[in-house]
Amino acid sequence: MSAENVTEVLVVGAGPAGLSLAITLRRHGVPVRIIDRAAQPSTVSKALALWSASLEALQGMGVVDRFVAEGQRLNALCVGEGDRRLATLAVGEGIDSPFPFPLLLPQSRTEELLAARLTELGASIERSVELVGLAQDASGVTATLRHADGREETVRTKYLAGCDGARSAVRQALDIAFEGYTEPQTFLLADVKIDGGDLDHRSIYLWWHNGGTIAMFPFGQEVWRIFSMRGPDSPKGDEPVTLEEIQHCVDRYGPSGLRLRDPSWLSIFRINERLAARYRVGRCFIAGDAAHIHSPAGGQGMNTGIQDAVNLGWKLAYALHGVGNGELLLDSYEAERRPIARGVIDAAAQKQHLSFGASKLTSMVRNMAVSIFGNIPAVHRKLQVELSETEFAYRDGPLVALGGSKRSSKRTEVGTRAREVSFVDVATGRNASLWPYLSAPRHSLLIFPEGDRPVSLNGAVEEAGDHLQVLHVDGRCDPTGKVRTRYRLSGPGWVLVRPDQVVAARGVGNDFGTLQAYASQVLRPRSGA
Ligand SMILES: Cc1cc2nc3c(=O)[nH]c(=O)nc-3n(C[C@H](O)[C@H](O)[C@H](O)COP(=O)(O)OP(=O)(O)OC[C@H]3O[C@@H](n4cnc5c(N)ncnc54)[C@H](O)[C@@H]3O)c2cc1C
Repeated sequence: MSAENVTEVLVVGAGPAGLSLAITLRRHGVPVRIIDRAAQPSTVSKALALWSASLEALQGMGVVDRFVAEGQRLNALCVGEGDRRLATLAVGEGIDSPFPFPLLLPQSRTEELLAARLTELGASIERSVELVGLAQDASGVTATLRHADGREETVRTKYLAGCDGARSAVRQALDIAFEGYTEPQTFLLADVKIDGGDLDHRSIYLWWHNGGTIAMFPFGQEVWRIFSMRGPDSPKGDEPVTLEEIQHCVDRYGPSGLRLRDPSWLSIFRINERLAARYRVGRCFIAGDAAHIHSPAGGQGMNTGIQDAVNLGWKLAYALHGVGNGELLLDSYEAERRPIARGVIDAAAQKQHLSFGASKLTSMVRNMAVSIFGNIPAVHRKLQVELSETEFAYRDGPLVALGGSKRSSKRTEVGTRAREVSFVDVATGRNASLWPYLSAPRHSLLIFPEGDRPVSLNGAVEEAGDHLQVLHVDGRCDPTGKVRTRYRLSGPGWVLVRPDQVVAARGVGNDFGTLQAYASQVLRPRSGA
């Protein structure tokens, strides 16, 4: 065994969640080690959709432009039965975000772009390194890592994050229950090219016929991801899937006239709906698929993991920098993120059962629902806004409690996401977008003064130093009042936004009591730190 090494944070697993966490920590200046037991990056497409809240988070990681330049925007979701198209739902409507659209990009490419960003920030993935054991005490975690040549290394780290996927060794070592169930059916997956059928390569197709379902997602150059299902009574059981079997499913259940060819990935899988009983044990945390897994219906798994990572990242950084009440911050991670995962799992299971349910009653209800509700714009919007994950509200935990007692889901209330809006950058006189400003690795305080009268904060945040930036949204900065309107303030007031672009606290007039209370718990350097 080699000599003991010491690090601040050990991230186990370099999938989307681990990479996002490592990037966030580096953005906050925290040294990080990130390991993955796989010798090579994954080459399979897996998650294809990046939703708006993830794109917003990618801006915070300083990498969103590359995703937007490379990813493919989606046009529509087309739903049909046999030869009938039941509905065409335009995609990207009603999402209030600087990125009001889902972006299609294979997960393998998402991971490549994230890994490149991490390298720019001075860290890189250590491959063929597996976590095989961990133990913790009051001051840190001792992790045992096994290298490709069988050598074992002991690492001492202040915090450890298990982003090591559904079978998480970290979750198991911490003895955290992964509560839930496995669906009985076997699902089939194929990445193929398709001839015929006049499909729009910017639309998703969800099709039913003869008691079965086909879902088709476009990505890359002419490639389509196809999902279908083997019934629980299928004699094939868990046999590997072939192109012929997928073609048979498409012929039987899908739009007519499609010829599949050139499969680049064929796989079968079972759907698990599971949520970890805890996200934190002492100095160890879990995030991403290690903490929650569910049906791919709705395409939320990777997205939820990325957002776990940005929630945890800044809190770990503050705790390590000796800023604020570390225990309060770190406890707030599970309190905020676990209820979100619960909601995502339940909603994905519902979509899954509605889309793939084979009974006559299910298909009748489904066809009626799509024909009636699928053509109502408000229903499209509601579904897309839900999937975008931009309208969630953190309601629980010690951090949102600091922001004030009012619990409303209205956007820009405490615990909800901040809003994008343009303002005049007084230094340049030009219009600027607020989102990049809010994406800095620090808290942002927006102060809305009474007229042009200067505001005295009465020392409420004087110890925050580099962990806070202040924007005076006065008449020069906001001549038409649209920033004020977006933040729902009719008179003077203030809104404090966290580094993960969530509203931390807000107040009206010159009452900075809540700001002072929040700052003393979150922004004040700890004595001796
Ligand atoms: C077919 C399919 C389609 C999907 N479609 C979507 C979609 O459209 N949208 C969406 O959001 N999600 C989708 N998902 C889910 C998505 O792929 C996962 O949610 C995502 O990969 C989870 O990321 P993660 O970083 O948490 O874990 P993973 O991607 O599983 O990464 C975990 C990493 O940890 C490493 N590791 C494991 N154990 C150890 C250890 N002991 N030591 C060191 N390293 C270890 C692994 O090698 C791996 O690289 C889909 C999944 C599948 C299978």
